[in-house]
Amino acid sequence: MTQATLMTQVVLVLNCGSSSAKFAVIDAKHKTTLISGLAECLNSADASISLTYQNKKKQQNIPHANHDEALSAIVQALAVYKQLQIVAVGHRVVHGSETFTQSCLLTESALESLLAVSDLAPLHTPANIAGIYAAQKAYPELPQVLVFDTAFHQTLPESAYLYAIPYDYYRRYGVRRYGFHGTSYRYINQAIPDYNRGQTVSKVIVAHLGNGASVCAIHNGQSVATSMGFTPLDGLVQGTRCGSIDPALLTFLSEQTRLSVEDITEVLWKQSGLLGLSEKSNDCRVLEASAREGNQACQRALNVFVARLQEAIGAYAAVMDGVDALVFTGGIGENSVFIRAQTIAKLSYLGFVISQDNNAATIRGQGGNIASRDSKPIWVIPTNEELMIAEDVLTFTTL
Ligand code: ADP
Repeated sequence: MTQATLMTQVVLVLNCGSSSAKFAVIDAKHKTTLISGLAECLNSADASISLTYQNKKKQQNIPHANHDEALSAIVQALAVYKQLQIVAVGHRVVHGSETFTQSCLLTESALESLLAVSDLAPLHTPANIAGIYAAQKAYPELPQVLVFDTAFHQTLPESAYLYAIPYDYYRRYGVRRYGFHGTSYRYINQAIPDYNRGQTVSKVIVAHLGNGASVCAIHNGQSVATSMGFTPLDGLVQGTRCGSIDPALLTFLSEQTRLSVEDITEVLWKQSGLLGLSEKSNDCRVLEASAREGNQACQRALNVFVARLQEAIGAYAAVMDGVDALVFTGGIGENSVFIRAQTIAKLSYLGFVISQDNNAATIRGQGGNIASRDSKPIWVIPTNEELMIAEDVLTFTTL
């Protein structure tokens, strides 16, 4: 056998956040994840990179590394696996504004357009661009594809994406609801026929519940309503983000606490949500365990989380004039038997009744229908954003 036949062609998926860079290596033929890894705590003394291949985890400290240095470390770490031939790179890009309505090949003009909209996500887009430059440097001959978290929601009707503030703010500054988690929703939308005997479903509400949480109404395959807004801060109660609040609170709290509007905004992103309400943790597992032991604050946080989710589901059923199926995904959606049961408990008016047995059995990466026999379907579908990105990359790549 020649060297070439022993090589496995793979796609490198990069997801650069403000202080981290997640990466995954996906087998181009079998669509399986071969390597997953994370560079974290970038620009600090604790910066490190970890990588898992065949259930073995390797870790390396890269103190004070910035994105560029972390990406060099990732490239070096991947070079060890000589049997893996990287054929293309896919980038998760957080914000594509109205410019990018679908994934695209990286060209000079695409990069220019991305730079032109970078104001809309000032923490994330520079990290995404650092990832793009680093990948261009490391793999100059490979195609690179940009996959946008906002793109799936570009089908939102004007009535769903406009805020009722002076229209000129939309015209001038692009202020509108963009929505996020789009790559996950697209993956779920594509996976539904696997759970539904090959059939698509007309009206679905998908709850992506992780540390970041949002809901999306998908009507005939298109996003028509979603809970995150101009930024991912809006909508549901999230791990540390407040979700929807009265905007007047910003000035009120700033006056009361004598913190600047910037500092209050930081509180709304990082010290609110489940963490803020429970005064204990942003991790749903910790809250559930504490609530079971009688901790009222943790119970309160979970109650508010569930109530907001129920409100959103009811609203989106109204938006679509009905709902045929529900989907739960994300770390909480895929694992929390408690949150799913509590949420569904008040949705019988929409035709959803949970099967306690199926609910309890559907955890840790298991997908399936957790509805009782007479209910409309309630699917748990493990999301796979990296795979969705790799699939997009492959549509632009000739192997
Ligand atoms: P991110 O938004 O960071 O991608 P994930 O989708 O990985 O987040 O979800 C992480 C969250 O999933 C954790 O904060 C935790 O609250 C929740 N989670 C994971 N496992 C469980 C579980 N068994 N029960 C309840 N919540 C869980």
